Amino acid sequence: MVQTAKVEKLKEGFKGEVILPKDGAYDEARKIWNAMIDKRPAIIARCANTQDVVRAVNFARDHSLLLAVRGGGHNIAGNALCDDGIVVDLSAMKSAKVDAARRRVVIEGGAKLGDLDAATQAHGLATPVGINSTTGLAGLTLGGGFGWLSRKYGLTVDNLESAELVTADGEVVRASAADHPDLFWALRGGGGNFGVVTRFEFQLHRVGPNVLSGLIVYPIAQAKSVLQQYRDFTAKASEELSVWTVLRLAPPLPFLPQDVHGKAVLILALLYAGDSKRGEAEIAPLRKFGKPVGEAVGVQPYTAWQQAFDPLLTPGARNYWKSHNFTALKDGLFDVAVKHVANLPTPQCEIFFGALGGAASRPAPDATAYPHRDAQYVMNFHGRWESADDDERCVAWSREFFNASAPFASGGAYVNFLTADETDRTAAAYGSNYKRLAEVKKKYDPANLFRVNQNIKP
Ligand SMILES: Cc1cc2nc3c(=O)[nH]c(=O)nc-3n(C[C@H](O)[C@H](O)[C@H](O)COP(=O)(O)OP(=O)(O)OC[C@H]3O[C@@H](n4cnc5c(N)ncnc54)[C@H](O)[C@@H]3O)c2cc1C
Repeated sequence: MVQTAKVEKLKEGFKGEVILPKDGAYDEARKIWNAMIDKRPAIIARCANTQDVVRAVNFARDHSLLLAVRGGGHNIAGNALCDDGIVVDLSAMKSAKVDAARRRVVIEGGAKLGDLDAATQAHGLATPVGINSTTGLAGLTLGGGFGWLSRKYGLTVDNLESAELVTADGEVVRASAADHPDLFWALRGGGGNFGVVTRFEFQLHRVGPNVLSGLIVYPIAQAKSVLQQYRDFTAKASEELSVWTVLRLAPPLPFLPQDVHGKAVLILALLYAGDSKRGEAEIAPLRKFGKPVGEAVGVQPYTAWQQAFDPLLTPGARNYWKSHNFTALKDGLFDVAVKHVANLPTPQCEIFFGALGGAASRPAPDATAYPHRDAQYVMNFHGRWESADDDERCVAWSREFFNASAPFASGGAYVNFLTADETDRTAAAYGSNYKRLAEVKKKYDPANLFRVNQNIKP
């Protein structure tokens, strides 16, 4: 337990909030996206600026406290929190400054994807991030980051120009291609292992503000044939076009006939990052993979599409995920997926295939710490439910699907999708870059202060 006198010392000059277990705000402050995580930190240091972060890091190190860093709090493994130690909480630090002429944004380390999109889209600009606006930018970026724009503009890390971070010795350091290049390399896929990032600077691209995007829905009976055609189609698609698939029970979406609601379906979700007329021509075949039961595709604000999945992925549910990377999709995998969607343990569970390739696959595996440039598809199965009584069967479903689909996977793993019990996959997540990452870790954090993450041992 941390002594009161010491906490008072932390509070001196601290501009943000120091939240303790006795405070009314404590229970809300220790909630994160995945309700499976129920950790009780001794101190939550909700920082207001970089100097608060320096103060909190120094405090943790000097008092040998376990330290966790919270960005958006979306990490499925619950690494935004720790038991007993201190949480350096950046959730109040989310301001953004866009330089439209130079196509750059500088944004603070607690921002969510929605904060970034809102700031950049005000200038008709964007950088590739994930598909759920409430995800934290920091955790997503530090693990790699991909979404609808990645085939055209690369991973989030491919667009990172520089980062300001507070290292284990409390120094404020700027990392870029010119300054601390080893650290800059490691930040682009090495997770939160090297310090607390207080500011990111990204390169921006002209996107929208309106983009062709939406959903085409097929009944599950046609799923295998649709998936086969999807595979052939995406192999030849332009880099402007991203099409992902979701297998799940149909939500009660207004464009779907009522008798489809609650039935297993395959959803093609797409975005075209270019001229909408050209996009319309390119997506036409997607409607002819079979007989769709409904569609909602149109030109809409990019920011609206970036929030389209938010209602399915609200915070507060219990979640257990499993994921695989694939260099190619095999028919056998489709059989496994269709079989498992027939016995989803709850209506909120779903199987997702994200399509990468294009600019996301061009850099060499050692160009950034994120190594999986060969991954053309990332499959993530979201085990998701409400009651703790369902934990066992929902976790079992995810694990069973994971094992059944493993023979078709590349063996690589996306660090941002790993659950708390997957420490045996950490090496696979950093892949061929692990050794170099360990050297950078040894240089910047030899005592492993930053270890509540998918940890790289110094
Ligand atoms: C609903 C949902 C949708 C998702 N969709 C996508 C997607 O489309 N694409 C994709 O690539 N990923 C996606 N993800 C995965 C996402 O990238 C990870 O969950 C990521 O860890 C979230 O970052 P965060 O800041 O919200 O997490 P947190 O839980 O706050 O942190 C995650 C990790 O990063 C560290 N960290 C956080 N902030 C900082 C910081 N400022 N400095 C240093 N370390 C820090 C933490 O210590 C922790 O180890 C999704 C996740 C969810 C829950």
